[in-house]
This record gives sequence, C-alpha cells and structure tokens, in this order.
Amino acid sequence: MSNITVCARFRPLSSKERRDHGDAVCIQCVDSETFIFKDEKAEEFTFNFDRVFYEKSEQTDVYRFLAQPIVQDALNAVNGTIITFGQTGAGKTYSMEGPGILECHAVEKGLLPRVVEEIFECTKFADETSKYTIKLSMVEIYMEKVRDLFDLSKDNIQIKESKTQGIMLNGVIEMPVKDPPEALLTLSNGIANRAVGETQMNIASSRSHCIYIFTIQQESTKDKRARTGKLNLVDLAGSEKVEKTGAEGRVLEEAKTINKSLSALGNVINALTCGPTGRGNHIPYRDSKLTRILQDALGGNSRTALLCCCSPSPTNSSESLSTLRFGARAKHIKTSPRVANEDKSIRELENFTPIKRESREKLLN
Ligand code: ADP
Ligand code: MG
Repeated sequence: MSNITVCARFRPLSSKERRDHGDAVCIQCVDSETFIFKDEKAEEFTFNFDRVFYEKSEQTDVYRFLAQPIVQDALNAVNGTIITFGQTGAGKTYSMEGPGILECHAVEKGLLPRVVEEIFECTKFADETSKYTIKLSMVEIYMEKVRDLFDLSKDNIQIKESKTQGIMLNGVIEMPVKDPPEALLTLSNGIANRAVGETQMNIASSRSHCIYIFTIQQESTKDKRARTGKLNLVDLAGSEKVEKTGAEGRVLEEAKTINKSLSALGNVINALTCGPTGRGNHIPYRDSKLTRILQDALGGNSRTALLCCCSPSPTNSSESLSTLRFGARAKHIKTSPRVANEDKSIRELENFTPIKRESREKLLN
C-alpha cells in the first residue's frame, strides 16, 4: 500500500493580481512541506504536503519530485496517474504542458514533454532482451461525455472494466509513437483538435477534463512475456464555484456538470479515506465519468500524484483554500500499485527490471 503523493504549487502573482493587491500574498512559507495560509478573515491554517512548490520553483523541480518516480514505475509496468487540480488560471495546464508543447524555453517545459523524454530515454537504454512499444491516447470529458481527441467523430466513448486490464476506454485510438518528436507532434495534434472541438461547441478548455494516456508495453524477447504500464496525466477542469462566475444557461449547466464530477471526485476521496471500515465501504466511482476513469488511480492498481495548483493572491484565497483542503483530504488515500498483468509487488520487480537507473545515468554523464 502506498499513499497518494500530494503537492501544492503556487504560481507567481499575475499582473492583474499585482495591480489589484500589490505584492500581497495569502501564504507564508515554513519549509518545503509546510506553509501557513491566511484566509480573507485573517484566520490562519497550517498545511502540510509531500512537497510545496512556491512561485520560484521550476518545472524541473515539479517533474523530478512528482512525476519521475511514477514514470520510472510505469516503465516497469506499474500503472501511474498524475492529476492537476485547481481553479481556472491556477497553473494546471502550465504545469502539465508548459507554455507550448512543441516549442518553449527548455526551462519552461511542462510535465508532458518531460514524461515523453524520460520514457524514450529510458527505453533506449533497456537491454536487448526487452522491446518497448509506446502508444498515446487523448480524451476529453465534457458534459459527461468522453471524446477521443485523435478522432473527434468518436464523441461518446464508453468506459469498460476488464478483469485483467482494469478500466478501459472502449475503441479509443491508441497512436503508436517511435520517438519524442513523433510523440510531441501527436500530442500537439490532440491539443489542436481539442481547440477545434471547443470552437465548434463554443466552450473553453477550462470547462472540460483532459486525459493524456501513455501505454507502455514491454515485451521480453527471451520468453515472449509482455506486460503493460499505463500512465495517465489528467488536467482537470477549473474547480471554481458556480456562483462566482455569474453563469446562466448552458454555461451554468456546464459549471454544474463540472462541479458534479469534481464533487464526485471529492466524494470518492472521502469514501476512500474516512468510511467506517476504511476501504470496506461503498465507493461511488460510478457517479461520474471522471471518477470511473480514475477508479484504478484512486482505489487500486496505480501510483498516483496530485498537484494542487493555487494562486497566491488574497483575491483568490477562498478558491485556493478549497483546493488545498481537497488536497489535504486526498493525502490519506492509499493505493496498491502492482505490476500490471502480473501478481507481483513492486519490490519483487527488481529482478525483472531491464532498466538500471544508475547504469543509464553513467552512460549519460
Ligand atoms: P489553468 O490551466 O489552471 O487554468 P494556466 O496553466 O493556463 O491555468 O495558467 C494561467 C496563467 O498563469 C498562464 O498565463 C500561465 O502561463 C501562467 N502560469 C501558471 N503557472 C505559472 C508558473 N508556475 N510560472 C509562470 N507562469 C505561470
Ligand atoms: Mg487549463
């Protein structure tokens, strides 16, 4: 059993926040895990997370702490999930993609391009008894419908559960990718498709959840055994409350659906962490598409990390506080990651690990 890794990230103040409130911030750093948060009534709350990334933290710090261990495990067929959560404008997409997936300053690269680099770099150094196949899928959940971002005509993908492979998206396109440029181009096509669909439907990307799925298949050329690790990167819709947006009509419906799926996520987290018998009680995964897709990540066979993205400004303190409370609750979730399709614990894995990190690093230096 392992806990979900929960981190908080505060982006720098925006120019609007600076204009409205100068340099005022609602957090006071204690150390790399703890900070004091001050709400609008000057009440203080101390939060403790696995790691706190303050405004000067770099993308590489977030990647190394939050994502790299999960990517390493996914390469060894242990499923992994990395989720960004927070209100619109808090830095979820910046953390996930960076300012641009194909072109941006190396320092600003987000988690996605770094995951791509790590996967291909590691598979390059795998010994010749292992053959890797990497595939990519991208889906978006909008108004409780799952849409394939590699084929927009697939706009109502069904979720299935298989005994051996867990939760699956029926008929979703899996694009084989052979190197980082091809993987990044494929991802950027999916991102562009998302924008096309949004323009057609007149919605903003912050109103839907986006899931990037890496399927990493490893085949042993010695005994032909294959095993697969799935890595999900989830950029959630903005968690802000409906009232604040003053929404009407369809926008209000959207906001309600988002709130419903995010509260379903909150309910699942509650059920997993504070039920009378711990994990023995009913977990309402089926209450939303989001929780159904994340079922393995939250309650089962996955190593999971949650990045709670927040604005440091007093203007956003009530949204930031609810994001941080969500994260604090999620910290108590325990999952049982194991090798997919094989009944082995992570510790037993070492004998079947073709990639030795130290030897790879020696080669790189
Ligand atoms: P979200 O996806 O949560 O709605 P974004 O990631 O789009 O928010 O971020 C909103 C704005 O803040 C963007 O202009 C983004 O470039 C900027 N931003 C977010 N996080 C950071 C950060 N850590 N450093 C610098 N700029 C950031
Ligand atoms: Mg976003």
